[in-house]
This record gives sequence, C-alpha cells and structure tokens, in this order.
Amino acid sequence: MGKFREKLQRFMIGRYGMDQLNQFLLYAVLAVILINLFVRMWPLELLELAGIVFLYFRMFSRNISKRYQENQAFLRMTFRVREPLKKWQFRFRESRQYHIYKCPSCGQKIRIPRGRGRVSIHCPKCGTDFIKKS
Ligand SMILES: [Zn+2]
Repeated sequence: MGKFREKLQRFMIGRYGMDQLNQFLLYAVLAVILINLFVRMWPLELLELAGIVFLYFRMFSRNISKRYQENQAFLRMTFRVREPLKKWQFRFRESRQYHIYKCPSCGQKIRIPRGRGRVSIHCPKCGTDFIKKS
C-alpha cells in the first residue's frame, strides 16, 4: 500500500491535481450516479462518463496554467452562488455553537456560547445585566 502511494505521488509530480472545479465535478458526478440509481436514463450515464473523463483529464493534466485559468473562470462564474452558500453555512455552524440573545433594555444582540448553563450576560452597549440559559 505504501509503495502504491509512493508511485502515485511520483506520478502526480508536475500534474495539476485537485481544485474547486474538480471538487465540484466530483460531487456532480456522485449526484448524477445517485440520481441514476432511481431514474435510469441513458443520458445520465453519458453525463457520468463525461464528468469522470473531464475530472481525470484535469487532475492528470500537465498544462497547469491552463487548468488554473479554468478554475478561476469557474470561481468567477459561481461567485454569486457560492457566497450566499458560504454565509448560510457560516450561520448554520454558528447557530450550533452560539445562542443569540437580545438585551431586554436596548435590544442589542449578544452572542453567547451554548452549553454553559445559566449565565449572567452583561450588555456591552447599555451595561444591563440579565440572566439566561445558554
Ligand atoms: Zn443593552
């Protein structure tokens, strides 16, 4: 197994490897494979194959600057989709770790880590202290 990894590493020298576009292709291919399990249609199999071929072609390509440009174009094209997704992901992660409380007197939002039991919260805006369960 170690020898295989060594061989693979030597094989990958000077080749492009993974980037965001390839990651996207990988997930797209997996999604198509999954869909294809439920609705068997031949265009899907063609799409699978095309995706896999394109993915491997880009991974093993030696034309690194060209692949880099493709990835940049992909990132530019998907910027409007990726940014809201990233924000949503961030908010979701945060909401699992923190509780947002509103100060009862001034309405200032205060972020408190979850799972600390009852805590006394000091409002940084108006100085009010209030007790909440975190
Ligand atoms: Zn306040």
